[in-house]
Amino acid sequence: DNSPKGQLTKLHDQAAKLYHHLLVNTEAGEKALHYLTKRGVSRKLIDQFDLGYAVEQSDEEVLLEYAQKQQIDYQLLRQSGLFTEDQQGNLHDRFHGRIMYPIKNENGHVIAFSGRILAPKATQNEPKYMNSPETPIFNKRRTLFNLDLAKKGARQSGSLTLFEGFMDVIAAFGVGVKNGIASMGTNLTEEQIQIIQRITSQVNICYDGDDPGQNAINRAVQMFTDNAPRLGVKIIQLPAGIDPDEYVQKYGGIKFSDYLSQNTENSVEFHLKYLQRGLNLKNQDELMGYLNAALQVIAGVSEPVAQDLYLQKLATKFGLDKTSLVNQLAKIQPPSR
Ligand code: ATP
Ligand code: MN
Ligand code: MN
Ligand code: MN
Repeated sequence: DNSPKGQLTKLHDQAAKLYHHLLVNTEAGEKALHYLTKRGVSRKLIDQFDLGYAVEQSDEEVLLEYAQKQQIDYQLLRQSGLFTEDQQGNLHDRFHGRIMYPIKNENGHVIAFSGRILAPKATQNEPKYMNSPETPIFNKRRTLFNLDLAKKGARQSGSLTLFEGFMDVIAAFGVGVKNGIASMGTNLTEEQIQIIQRITSQVNICYDGDDPGQNAINRAVQMFTDNAPRLGVKIIQLPAGIDPDEYVQKYGGIKFSDYLSQNTENSVEFHLKYLQRGLNLKNQDELMGYLNAALQVIAGVSEPVAQDLYLQKLATKFGLDKTSLVNQLAKIQPPSR
């Protein structure tokens, strides 16, 4: 494929090979390799995901030199997003001192990179992850990390599992959860939902067990409900303060798989729990506020039997008479969809 897009993709595939070589075969990559090993990323995973390393020294333009040796067209290099351009119009390697995660299209060709700094904590002027800019071959809104491999995983498992981070996808893959994808650090987009919907009829959301994770689940559920109402959505909430990668490192793959299969909730169950965050339900006003919000959610459930079950659970949980909940529910107009 000699089209401009084909050439850009080829350049990215070559760049991934170069970064991978720097990581696994050179002294410059030793620190990064050590970092990955310490994080529990095996050599097999490094190879499966073509992880790489961009050298630290900002005066070593490894990728630029490689590209110039290949006599790749200057305009193509400019368009690729792999370089920054100074005021004189000279190009420089964009990524330095970062673990390189190739981002691939559905066919497994590299279209962009995300680079992670080695330090555990990001500083103000150094973001933890840095992504390629948008290019003719990389549209963030339409890209899902690991979609190429997860498609096969989805055929086997009947679902896709949506994680927050690249490391979560990789750690899960390493312990046999091969249907994992991640959006590009930003919120889930409508375009990504359409892609998910094309590939599977069931999506599991498994975000981090922290407050941003909870809020992100809530937004994602809403997005799926609005944009793909027929898609089955399950939510897996991790224990507080832990993300999927950390869970795998801490408890191992068997426990992780068990956790995924045993802790799924539907969107109503999630919503009823999510509405409780930050409330003191021993306080009567706060409890009444919660119950009203919860009844709003239950009013939106179409099956009467399911409604009845949720009311029963609420009544039991707060020691209430179910009849009064039923009466109160009758006053609520179901939200129109
Ligand atoms: P790690 O385990 O390497 O620290 P993580 O995946 O747990 O990373 P989170 O802080 O949970 O990182 O963020 C989730 C995802 O959000 C990341 O994988 C990355 O895609 C994106 N992200 C995080 N920080 C940034 C950033 N500064 N710029 C762009 N994207 C980011
Ligand atoms: Mn997070
Ligand atoms: Mn995380
Ligand atoms: Mn993490």
